[in-house]
Amino acid sequence: MLFDDNVEIVRALDKDNRNSTCDGFTCIYKDNIFIIYKKSNNIGRTRFTIAHEFGHIVLLHLNKLVNDDYEREANMFAARILMPMCVIKECKAFTPQAISNLCGVSLTAATYRANRLQELLQRNKFYTSPYEVKLVKQFKKFIKQNN
Ligand SMILES: [Zn+2]
Repeated sequence: MLFDDNVEIVRALDKDNRNSTCDGFTCIYKDNIFIIYKKSNNIGRTRFTIAHEFGHIVLLHLNKLVNDDYEREANMFAARILMPMCVIKECKAFTPQAISNLCGVSLTAATYRANRLQELLQRNKFYTSPYEVKLVKQFKKFIKQNN
């Protein structure tokens, strides 16, 4: 659901009155979950916002007080599903611009991910989980197309 700051229902749903400063939020109405996001943002930022809000749902943050830990967890969730580290490494997307182009995210989000990628490259911390190996196999065609 898109939102415009001037829509009354959005103000009513946004209990914390954050709609003028935040990019999106999640609410439950009549047993349905709605992710509401700002329509004026670019597509990369919107994709991250929706993934972040989806993270709050999956991580069971709904109906709990907002706190910094939940925000960090939702950001990490969004970064990991939109910019899987082993996939961006295999695609040799080492700069923020390359990650932004590859993953369809904002340059801001890609910059955080590029910094994290550099840390992991220095420590050679890849494929420590069987899930990473499985993920790269699933992305094999995508990786080949982007190399
Ligand atoms: Zn959040």
